[in-house]
Amino acid sequence: MDTKRDYYEVLGVNRGATAEEIKKAYRKKALQYHPDRNPGDKEAEEKFKEATEAYDVLSNDEKRKLYDQYGHSMGQHTGFGGGGFSAQGIDLEEILRRAGFGGFDFGSAFGGFGGATGFGGGGRRRPRQRRGSDLRIRVKLTLAEIANGITKTLRVPTFVECTNCKGTGAKDGVAFATCNRCHGTGQIVTEQYTPFGMQQAASVCPNCDGTGKTITEQCPHCHGEGVNKKDVEVSFTIPAGAQEGQTFSLRGKGNYPKGGGVPGDLLVVVEEIPHPELIRDGADVIYNLMLDIPTAVAGGSVEVPTISGRARLNIPAGTQPGKVLRLRGKGVPDNENGGRGDQLINIMVYIPEKPTEEQKHIFESLKGQPGIMPTEADRSRVFSKFKHLFEQ
Ligand SMILES: [Zn+2]
Ligand SMILES: [Zn+2]
Repeated sequence: MDTKRDYYEVLGVNRGATAEEIKKAYRKKALQYHPDRNPGDKEAEEKFKEATEAYDVLSNDEKRKLYDQYGHSMGQHTGFGGGGFSAQGIDLEEILRRAGFGGFDFGSAFGGFGGATGFGGGGRRRPRQRRGSDLRIRVKLTLAEIANGITKTLRVPTFVECTNCKGTGAKDGVAFATCNRCHGTGQIVTEQYTPFGMQQAASVCPNCDGTGKTITEQCPHCHGEGVNKKDVEVSFTIPAGAQEGQTFSLRGKGNYPKGGGVPGDLLVVVEEIPHPELIRDGADVIYNLMLDIPTAVAGGSVEVPTISGRARLNIPAGTQPGKVLRLRGKGVPDNENGGRGDQLINIMVYIPEKPTEEQKHIFESLKGQPGIMPTEADRSRVFSKFKHLFEQ
């Protein structure tokens, strides 16, 4: 973590680079430093890994946002640590596919490139790794939870690796025979013309789906599926200031694939529970305060709800309807601009709907007093202030 280079610097792009520019920059680096093109060159391998890790983050909107916000320590801030954002957790094939190298064909079109699927592997062709499906859960959060960030622990029904057969689906994990179509390599090799000349191209053996083995006796615990459904406890942290619909992905916490491989991701979608009194507007929250006439005229102190409980608010004498008062920093963390939003208090004034005879008399008696009736200047000020309401 300590000496990591900035991801933008690694790819040689500026911080405002578009997705297309990032992809282009990564493709260039990947072609230049790929281990199969630089056999035995440790430095090239490191550069390849570094670029791949940078692309993994910068090509994903969610991760890029978190990286822009937190830098390399984003794993700690988001609770998606534990290797989630490091090279260890990277699915190279998936990344190469995203970078437009055509997925598994990357390995084929560039001959020996396929050998690098194991990320730094020693050139031995490995059977393809299957990837399990992603899981998606919605997590309902109150405005207070969103404002402060929260760590949640949930039980999620997930397909997990069958421990009896180690996910293979074969009895005790050993009841296999070598695939007779690919002779255990998991791949069918053909010759193919590429920009680099005639190359041997490999494709996945359809008989064993790339595993190189066929099952002779099924595992009875999973009926040969290699997976069992289980409630898995997962803990994750939603950082403060999350938006409705924002999705956080927990790498490797999704379903384990049938027949072995690597698990998919768990996608956590934020759902905001509406607050009974406060309205969220980005990083700000709005409260519509209905003042009584005496307080609006004479001033006073009122209690208003905030995200963190009730607060007292001073109302100056002569407060006008339509005025907006501000409680600074009482909003939600602003992840785009930094800092925290405000609470805006929109002033409305309550006019008694059923005044008593006595009340009518009191107001009647005010009519003649100086300063009670609006002047021409007051009328025109209010007119221009609310003019926009009537213009389309
Ligand atoms: Zn099993
Ligand atoms: Zn086979």
